[in-house]
Amino acid sequence: MIETAQTAAGNRDAVREPAGRTNLVGLSREELAACLAGFGMPAFRARQVWHWIYHRGARDFEEMTTLARPARALLAEHCVVARPEVVSEQLSTDGTRKWLLRTPGGGEIECVYIPEEDRGALCMSSQVGCALTCAFCHTGTQPLVRNLDAGDIVGQMLVARDAYGEWPSPAGGRMLSNIVMMGMGEPLLNFDNVAKALRIVMDQEGISISKRRITLSTAGYVPNIRRCGAELGVNLAISLHAVTDELRDVLVPINRKFPLAELLAACREYPTANNARRITFEYVMLKGVNDSPADARALVKMVKGIPAKVNLIPFNPWPGTAYECSTGAAIAAFARIVNDAGCSSPVRVPRGRDILAACGQLKSATERKRRETAPEAAG
Ligand code: SAH
Repeated sequence: MIETAQTAAGNRDAVREPAGRTNLVGLSREELAACLAGFGMPAFRARQVWHWIYHRGARDFEEMTTLARPARALLAEHCVVARPEVVSEQLSTDGTRKWLLRTPGGGEIECVYIPEEDRGALCMSSQVGCALTCAFCHTGTQPLVRNLDAGDIVGQMLVARDAYGEWPSPAGGRMLSNIVMMGMGEPLLNFDNVAKALRIVMDQEGISISKRRITLSTAGYVPNIRRCGAELGVNLAISLHAVTDELRDVLVPINRKFPLAELLAACREYPTANNARRITFEYVMLKGVNDSPADARALVKMVKGIPAKVNLIPFNPWPGTAYECSTGAAIAAFARIVNDAGCSSPVRVPRGRDILAACGQLKSATERKRRETAPEAAG
């Protein structure tokens, strides 16, 4: 594990700007046009600036050489192109990379890059902390601090792109090819900002990541599953984890408001749910809790009729948890039952475990330290 700490001086773009300057990152195209119109700039200028920010990765108006000098100076006076500040960065022995980021609006989040052989996914956060208190999730032990705004969310992608030098946006062969909204927070409880951010990264004149390469994971805030399908059309993942309401009420407490029957009905209606783009059901393997052959059979019955894939996630332990990961034999037996019923059920290989970057382990270092020094302050 390699750890680096960056000082503010080493990450100059993120230094908080004097009040009054507008961060252009996270504005929709319309908002950007309106902002620039306020400085007397015509609509085509907004298109140029968009291209510089999201296609070329420009951080400074001086780089925007298609703009006349006076226009650059005017923008520099009133606006910034700010990223979240990189507080620290860790690299796992398996290539997974985790950033601790401080957002301009306050609060720290984590963001993880998971490389595959010829591509890779960026796991992005949607909130500082999380309100859902899922029993087995480390992130869930940190209380919700605030929703991220669209700039904070898009900013995670910009930071990762900077780190891998992936500018201008390559047509193919990208390391940062996919996005999973599986970091800190519940994306469907911050839907407007998440939707705005995803529209920015999907925009073809910028970062241009197709909705087919974006997966949004939810613990099951049902009303916005419908909006997600209708307004974004990205791939859907459901953090299922239990096959009875009784157990799911404990593991994923939002189930008390939106029980399994309602959740599964929303999945059945999800517009992209066809065989080419199946819904992923995530299922964390907890020893003696949800990992019996009877659970596997019930799971198969439950997702029948939904084009589904079951992702079995070995539980990633964290300090203080009462849960344990299922045995290899139990996971294999569970997977076999689901596979034999015709539903693909890969076992997810945990990534970045050595840097606490795996599923459910995200939590800011600051928060960890605070808990260590003042346990009573823990959320
Ligand atoms: N709130 C959203 C987004 C977070 S996704 C959601 O719940 O879907 C993070 C995924 O990791 C979820 O499927 C979550 O249930 C799972 N997870 C959480 N803690 C885990 C742990 N300790 N081990 C393995 N998976 C875990």
